Amino acid sequence: MELQFLGSGDAFGSGGRFNTCFLVRDRQGAFLIDCGASSMVALRKFGVDPNEIRAVMVSHLHGDHFGGLPFFILDAQLVSRRTTPLVVAGPPGLGTRLAAAMETFFPGSSRVERRFTLEVREMQVGETSNIEGADVTPYLMKHPCGAPPFALRIGVDGKVICYSGDTEWVEALGDAARGADLFVAEAYFRDKKVKFHLDYETLVAHLPAIGARRVILTHMSPDMLGCREAFACEAAEDGMVVSI
Ligand SMILES: [Zn+2]
Ligand SMILES: [Zn+2]
Repeated sequence: MELQFLGSGDAFGSGGRFNTCFLVRDRQGAFLIDCGASSMVALRKFGVDPNEIRAVMVSHLHGDHFGGLPFFILDAQLVSRRTTPLVVAGPPGLGTRLAAAMETFFPGSSRVERRFTLEVREMQVGETSNIEGADVTPYLMKHPCGAPPFALRIGVDGKVICYSGDTEWVEALGDAARGADLFVAEAYFRDKKVKFHLDYETLVAHLPAIGARRVILTHMSPDMLGCREAFACEAAEDGMVVSI
């Protein structure tokens, strides 16, 4: 199994990076974890065919994490001419927020007839949902975005991937990532403690207890990007492919 970072940036394009979007290739095909506003550009840049993506799993309802969906869905209809079902899974409220985003960006686009079915699944904290062959368990984080923010623990092909989403440190993040084969973690600042985001120093202090096999940092601010060589863990780059 492979994970490719199509977007490893923060909300503001720091370092010229795309908004959050990870492509996972498993035995069944491919799915996305998050689909930030710039994700269609990232898919095109890295030569990913949108039609091979069977599902999108969304951590939380900020534009840099789900704002690419209106573009993805419209592309599926008008450009990529998708015929296979697409499942979009995320926090409660996803259906309403996605429709509102689509209507804001492309009026009428949420209500048109399509040649493919779009299924929105709203997941609940602590409940494992089978999303197109992947077992996805959401954990509640601390990051206000108008809906419950999730870290996602995803079991697929006998491996476990955890993605923190955006959050300040909460014990539930340790539970979500415990023993994971790959833990992709937000590290927004190096040591500056800000509300609702995770800094590298705090994350590193918790890693021994988490016991993930591999940890890769993402969602870095200019402050973090400027001192990458000092990190004890790997840092993501757009385009980077990781075997799991
Ligand atoms: Zn973000
Ligand atoms: Zn966010």
